[in-house]
Amino acid sequence: MTDSQLKVTLLGTGTPVPLMRRFGPSILVQAANQNFVFDCGRGSAQRLMQVNVPSPQSDKFFLTHLHSDHVVGIPDLWLSGWVMGRETPFRIWGPSGTADMMGHLEKAYQADIHIRRDLDEKFPADGIAVEATDTQQGFVYQENGVKITTFDVDHGHVKPAFGYRIDYEGRSVVLSGDTRYSENLIKYAQGADLLIHEVVAPESVRARRAAVGRDPGESERIIQHHTTPEEVGDIFSKVKPKLAVYSHIVGATGSTEEEVNAGTRKTYSGRFEIGEDLCVIDVGHEVVITFPD
Ligand SMILES: [Zn+2]
Ligand SMILES: [Zn+2]
Repeated sequence: MTDSQLKVTLLGTGTPVPLMRRFGPSILVQAANQNFVFDCGRGSAQRLMQVNVPSPQSDKFFLTHLHSDHVVGIPDLWLSGWVMGRETPFRIWGPSGTADMMGHLEKAYQADIHIRRDLDEKFPADGIAVEATDTQQGFVYQENGVKITTFDVDHGHVKPAFGYRIDYEGRSVVLSGDTRYSENLIKYAQGADLLIHEVVAPESVRARRAAVGRDPGESERIIQHHTTPEEVGDIFSKVKPKLAVYSHIVGATGSTEEEVNAGTRKTYSGRFEIGEDLCVIDVGHEVVITFPD
């Protein structure tokens, strides 16, 4: 649509489970000719290529937390982006531990970096340099009218864990990151046009893990640090976004979507969608979601 101020693409709507249908968590937000990537899950480099935003051009990355499913795509984006022509530092913001993690990655891949930078291709040193910034609630990134606000959510033992709010020209998008029911998210999401929220389908998680003989307590602990469909419905009711979308669907199996739909409808009567990889949401006067063919 023509009056869209913010364009959001779900690059990956999955979790640690390596599904072809749902790649690892990653969301692209585009505004004012800038690309911002939130989380770098498995396959985010391929997905960015698929939507014609190769990683040299998507050089602003924000992490919600350091769970592996949200960061395993970083080496690919960082290293392959350099091979593909990035000449400026890889810039990334995230919770405390982000700069340390990036320093460890530089050590882990030092052989490749040394060979390509110093001996073989002689790629520019700046292109593989890292500018990593540990942030906290209240951190605001601003550039060309785009404002990105960082806030705390509640992901159990994973502290800190962030959600993000992106504001541009009077439009706004809120990303929950991974969280259980969070009053702070409800506060920061007030007035948002689009709310993208994680969800756990408890029965699907229990069934899936029981089928492979896992301890039931383990499933309950997983469920405890996410938000159930009924709880998310309550959050949607309190935030009242123009459109609510699920991403990061924990427990994705055949019947998960029915469980999520039914649970949400117990507490929310407004408009919501279960996101899919590569669905696009244009946020303008209206909020329009387009699913891939
Ligand atoms: Zn996750
Ligand atoms: Zn997590």
